Amino acid sequence: MSGTITRPGAADPATAHAGDLPRFIRDIPDFPKPGIVFKDITPLLADASALALAVELMVQPFRRRGIDIVAGAESRGFIFGTAAAKALSVGFVPIRKPGKLPSETRRHEYALEYGTDALEIHADALGPGNTVLLVDDVLATGGTMSACCELITGLGARLEAIAVLIELSDLGGRSKLPACPVHSVVRY
Ligand code: AMP
Repeated sequence: MSGTITRPGAADPATAHAGDLPRFIRDIPDFPKPGIVFKDITPLLADASALALAVELMVQPFRRRGIDIVAGAESRGFIFGTAAAKALSVGFVPIRKPGKLPSETRRHEYALEYGTDALEIHADALGPGNTVLLVDDVLATGGTMSACCELITGLGARLEAIAVLIELSDLGGRSKLPACPVHSVVRY
């Protein structure tokens, strides 16, 4: 796969659009377990133009919308979340797997496309004064984003929207998030 990616001008942000991105996202069948087709974004991350385009298309609808902080879940939500925060000139709040955050936390349990888990946020990370954009790489069943919504709104913050690079439409994640607008860049 990496040999098929031509670096110079692969996705020129001046002229490119979302349709240029799928060739930087490769399918890995049966990962991490049989029956899952894993959307591998590492080729996109490795290409400067594709990465810049992906982040720009994720944040574009949210400029001048009063977002004052971006949140993202471990671990690929950290990659796009921090990039989105930088693009919007705001800060970033990490939502982490249990036991990773050092200060007082709030916890929410959720179901994954493959397995179950829990997520935590620092209790003082957000409050009623915040307007949050929640970011992740993939929206699959919606369990992760739903748990993040609970954590964010549970701290009294306003969740403006969710922005994901990839939406796996058949898995119906959007229907688990009725209270929050979802913006996806590439849909399968
Ligand atoms: P879900 O909670 O089912 O919406 O799953 C979303 C999280 O799991 C995201 O943080 C993704 O990183 C990861 N994920 C789930 N399904 C896939 C997939 N088919 N390919 C890549 N990542 C996935």
